[in-house]
Amino acid sequence: MEQQIYDLIILGSGCAGLTAGIYAGRAQLRTLILENGALGGQAATTNEIGNYPGVPDASGPELMQRMLEQARSFGAEFQSCTVHSVQLAGERKRVETSAGIFEAYAIILATGATPRKLGFEGEAEFRGRGVGYCATCDGFFFQDKDVFVIGGGNSAAEEALYLTRFAKKVTVLVRKDAFRCEKAVAQKVLSHPKIEVKFNTELIRAYGDETLKGAEMRNNRTGEITTYTVPEEDGMFGIFVFVGYQPASELFQGQVELDGDGYIQTDDRLETNLPGVYAAGDVRPKELRQLVTATADGAIAATQAGTYILRKKEKLGIAPAQARKDLREETSAASQGVLTEALRSQIRPVFRKLERDVVLVMAGEPDDVKTQELKDLLGQLCEESPHLSLRAYPKHDRACPVAFERWPAFALCGGDGQYSGVKFSGIPGGHEFNSLIFAIYHYGGPGQEMDAALRARIASIQKPVQVQIAVSLSCHFCPEVVIAAQRIAMLNPQIEAEMVDVGLFHEFQRKYRLMSVPALIVQGKSIHFGPQSMAQILDVIESAQ
Ligand code: NDP
Repeated sequence: MEQQIYDLIILGSGCAGLTAGIYAGRAQLRTLILENGALGGQAATTNEIGNYPGVPDASGPELMQRMLEQARSFGAEFQSCTVHSVQLAGERKRVETSAGIFEAYAIILATGATPRKLGFEGEAEFRGRGVGYCATCDGFFFQDKDVFVIGGGNSAAEEALYLTRFAKKVTVLVRKDAFRCEKAVAQKVLSHPKIEVKFNTELIRAYGDETLKGAEMRNNRTGEITTYTVPEEDGMFGIFVFVGYQPASELFQGQVELDGDGYIQTDDRLETNLPGVYAAGDVRPKELRQLVTATADGAIAATQAGTYILRKKEKLGIAPAQARKDLREETSAASQGVLTEALRSQIRPVFRKLERDVVLVMAGEPDDVKTQELKDLLGQLCEESPHLSLRAYPKHDRACPVAFERWPAFALCGGDGQYSGVKFSGIPGGHEFNSLIFAIYHYGGPGQEMDAALRARIASIQKPVQVQIAVSLSCHFCPEVVIAAQRIAMLNPQIEAEMVDVGLFHEFQRKYRLMSVPALIVQGKSIHFGPQSMAQILDVIESAQ
């Protein structure tokens, strides 16, 4: 496995990690941000953020995207991977990941916290079939349906307001007699015509068949049980759980000091009990968990780490390193189909690395608007590299070398016309633009470094496997699953990996009764919701053998 040495490694790409990346990059530290597929952290799943100074009506995903670009513009590198283990003691901090081993003189632990499950009967069974934890990702599945939101904190209140864009009615269940969130937000929720708030109420059971059909609630003052049954004409409803988070600190147990709830303890300079090891953001105990406090943590931790690294290097007689620009600086996501000049200039350096011809084979109804949009997008991409070409076929044309089930769609083929196993059904705009650029880079170029053990696992798959990844273009968790699954498909001709935009292919969504993305569907049978690493995808593929 290749070993790479940095000045600073940051674990986590939420707002604490990204701010640390901005500060470290500006301080000319060679910085690597390791992230596990959830770029932007919790804030990227909060649609409306009303209290970030100077940005009164910020959208979480947009704000995180801008922080990400800012960190990249200062030279922070990013690597998407699963962290297997860390060694935090000693002069060099060592991180073993699915993408290799990385070392640095200092490390910032900014792994944040993961949404807490509530534990009501039916919660696990109906995850992705009505029970969700990310309104931005899954809200649109509940157009004109009833939705329940559980929790009384900022997340619950703000997401309840967001869900009113889609839902017929939003019922917020708060277990106490008041909201815990800021008064102004609570007031907005209480006065919203589409929202009903039930205080002192807890969800005890959700039930249904293939989708949620009903729920039972208990008033914890009176003990009264009430039942909600989905109206027949609606067919289904949603439950979104926002009941706080638990710190993602398991990996560090036994190395840095944790408090009784698992939060990493630090001093005022955000240093842990180990020299050169800092913690920032929600993984630390604190009174106020907000974007501003997380970004402040990131700035403090990076500044302190910078001073520590400088001292360490002086002691070891090492010259300061130059920060290096990251590949993905040039592959920032597009918002929608059309290639802007800014986007072209970002993808050009990536496409310059292409070594082999890649033919984009697409099919669709020639008169269909979406087909035309896809053709325009792919045509413009092809203008950016002599290695890229487009062949467009009408739907059902027998001359088309790839079999498509949905239109518009396209596949990556080699210069000899051989199908790569990588397919996109729909237009990979929004966050999925990343998947498209990575697919081309992995197939036609050197691709990203990859763990030899994972390569061996991929090579050992003997029987044909069809993998589909249901996505929405607004889901920031989805591209990592698509990129990983498609990389697997490219490396083994037995495997096919198709991205399917459920915003466009409602039939597909209905067929699998999907109410959450990303959804990894293997052999049209087993469905796995939520972010998945390459190793996890391989676990699923192997079990289907
Ligand atoms: P919080 O911890 O603030 O709130 C959790 C909510 O869930 C509370 O109302 C809590 O009730 C309730 N709850 C916990 N367990 C249960 C249970 N078993 N049954 C029913 N209800 C339960 O979490 P949030 O996710 O809302 O926020 C996390 C942090 O992020 C907070 O510090 C928040 O301020 C911050 N945040 C900031 C935002 C911003 O800056 N704009 C946006 C979103 C979040 P109880 O009050 O009874 O304990």
